[in-house]
Amino acid sequence: MTFFLAETVGFIALFLYASFFEWVLHRFIMHQPLWWYPFRAHALIHHGTFRSGPSYFLSEDEDRKKIRFAWWNAPFILGLHAPALLGIQYLLRADIFFGGMAALGFYYFLYEYFHFCMHVPKGRWFEQTAVFSWLDAHHHQHHKRHFSNLNVVLPLADLLFGTLVPARERIPAQRRAAGGLAY
Ligand SMILES: [Zn+2]
Ligand SMILES: [Zn+2]
Repeated sequence: MTFFLAETVGFIALFLYASFFEWVLHRFIMHQPLWWYPFRAHALIHHGTFRSGPSYFLSEDEDRKKIRFAWWNAPFILGLHAPALLGIQYLLRADIFFGGMAALGFYYFLYEYFHFCMHVPKGRWFEQTAVFSWLDAHHHQHHKRHFSNLNVVLPLADLLFGTLVPARERIPAQRRAAGGLAY
């Protein structure tokens, strides 16, 4: 396999894998008190502040920091995967490391950015696309029932693990644009 093809396969494979990693992390680390820090930051603080309906949207500026992960989470998660990917690359004798790491970084970025935009709507161009509004309704449903809809970016794991609960309604763009006030 050529270098470029192998890295592309690595990117696609790891992007799909990231859906399952996101699901397991969200289900067992962020919603279970196995490790107090992520449980407190997510299940208690994020979900305690952002609920469903009007409180799904940011209303107090000081709550902004309760949406994103701490800065060190990205290097921590990517750093955990790097040795495993190097090992897989060695075993397969195929150059999947950079493509795979790029996929994990891109998935992480999409999680952070989309999740932020879901709670802080600003009429960005993509907020009215069918894909984003579906994902937004999917995440809003998660804020109603915490053990459903655990994926934010790619709900593949939700689909295969039976935790995908279709949202009954989308959040109309005009309500999103007005935040919680007009919900
Ligand atoms: Zn959320
Ligand atoms: Zn959650």
